[in-house]
Amino acid sequence: MTSQKQPDQPQQHTAPLEMSPEGFRQAGHQLVDQISDFLAELHDKQVTVSSTQAEIRQHLGSDSVPQFGAPVTDLLRETADLLFEHSLFNGHSRFWGYITSSAAPIGALADMLAAAVNPNVGAWQLSPVASEIEAQTIRWIADMLGYPPDCGGLLVSGGNMANFVCFLAARTARADKSLAKKGLFQGQQQLRVYASEETHTWIQKAADLFGLGTDAICWLPLDSEQRMNVEALATEIVKDREAGSLPFLVIGTAGSVSTGAVDPLPEIAAICRQHNLWFHVDGAYGAMAAVLPEASEALQGLSLADSIAVDPHKWLYTPLEAGCVLVRQPQHLVETFSYHPEYYNFAENDQNAPINYYEIGPQNSRGFRALKVWLSIRQAGKSGYIEMIRDNTELAGTLYDLATANPELEACTQSLSITTFRYVPLDLDPGKESSAVYLNDLNRALLDQLQHDGQAYVSNAIVAGKFLLRACIVNFRTKLADIEFLPNLVVQLGRNLDAEMRPRAQ
Ligand SMILES: *Cc1c(COP(=O)(O)O)cnc(C)c1O
Repeated sequence: MTSQKQPDQPQQHTAPLEMSPEGFRQAGHQLVDQISDFLAELHDKQVTVSSTQAEIRQHLGSDSVPQFGAPVTDLLRETADLLFEHSLFNGHSRFWGYITSSAAPIGALADMLAAAVNPNVGAWQLSPVASEIEAQTIRWIADMLGYPPDCGGLLVSGGNMANFVCFLAARTARADKSLAKKGLFQGQQQLRVYASEETHTWIQKAADLFGLGTDAICWLPLDSEQRMNVEALATEIVKDREAGSLPFLVIGTAGSVSTGAVDPLPEIAAICRQHNLWFHVDGAYGAMAAVLPEASEALQGLSLADSIAVDPHKWLYTPLEAGCVLVRQPQHLVETFSYHPEYYNFAENDQNAPINYYEIGPQNSRGFRALKVWLSIRQAGKSGYIEMIRDNTELAGTLYDLATANPELEACTQSLSITTFRYVPLDLDPGKESSAVYLNDLNRALLDQLQHDGQAYVSNAIVAGKFLLRACIVNFRTKLADIEFLPNLVVQLGRNLDAEMRPRAQ
């Protein structure tokens, strides 16, 4: 044999995206320092600055793809500054808009760790520890809600996706078994799903995306407290059956988006049992409040559900994105999502094999979003969550009381941690029909100003035709002083706007 000489190795080349351990350490320390300063200064910042799209695009510079690379430390420093100067800060103590929580700082560190190891949590073999951490996270969330910890479940991007997954599990369990293969076609029995008028818009997307059509939704009226009218539910199911349709799913909401209303879940569960329908609870926002020992009976009824959607990126305060699916019988997820392509050499899901997440949900490759949830739960513990969620709920009650006591405010609703109210000038009678339109215009203008002004951030709800200001406190940084600040701010802005707007309205 002739010994062949290897050709000379080219000079050791570092790939354009590689970082030396020392370079990573330096860039990382610099970024962590910047984030720490940002967190320290957050309280003294405005909740938001009104940047225009043009201003922001100018900061981003030329739209041609950068031809050559740039040093990491410079890039991170610039980008952190850009974000700290032009964002809306939902971690601010006076942010109460929509349902977006303050994010636990440990979540930011968890995301960095998760991305560094980068397990693919689609299959157990590709992510042994991460898969088990996700499974444990699911058991913990179930346990905190009073749901059986041996349920099936997984993390997804948010409430919409979690509700979609449960919707599909329900369809597999209760609709025609041939549907997964043959698809929906005209002329078969119409599937029917029942939900109150306050149900979040995911239900329309689901009915559309999964081929049922939005006409498949039977919208149920509300009672005086914005909850599902359960008598109407029973009546409609019977009516639909008689008309030849196929009722399969009822959705109860635990914490509606507008007012935090909790549907009477035990009563809905009883009707579902009686008619053999799947009972799903959309608890994206409110389900976690079931961790409180003093949780209402209505809310505790979520333990009776066949499936639950709950958002860790809401009341578990993890950074976006994290939604969670819980399904009482794990088998329903397997039956809905498990296909076995030839190109995978993974132990398939049976009772004893470890979970391959691609077999129980819609995603294939999956990131390690469980880590931030798992670490947040470990940092605060169940007792820490009870303290934070209780505190948020009590502050919402305080806001309602302050609005009630203020002669220029009308307190309207409070449930869980959502309070609605509006500004009513002293000399206007809100009961008068002629005032109704003006009060809505005035409060809409007031909301616009609040959202641009940046001293405190709320959103709106419309209840019985009234445009209301809505504070949703899913924020562990909010203190009593922040809440006391809001009524005075609203009254101040309200007086000024009224002085401007009323002469023009008359
Ligand atoms: C937030 C919310 C959703 C949607 O959840 P995302 O995480 O925004 O996708 C659905 N239903 C309810 C009741 C919600 O509060």
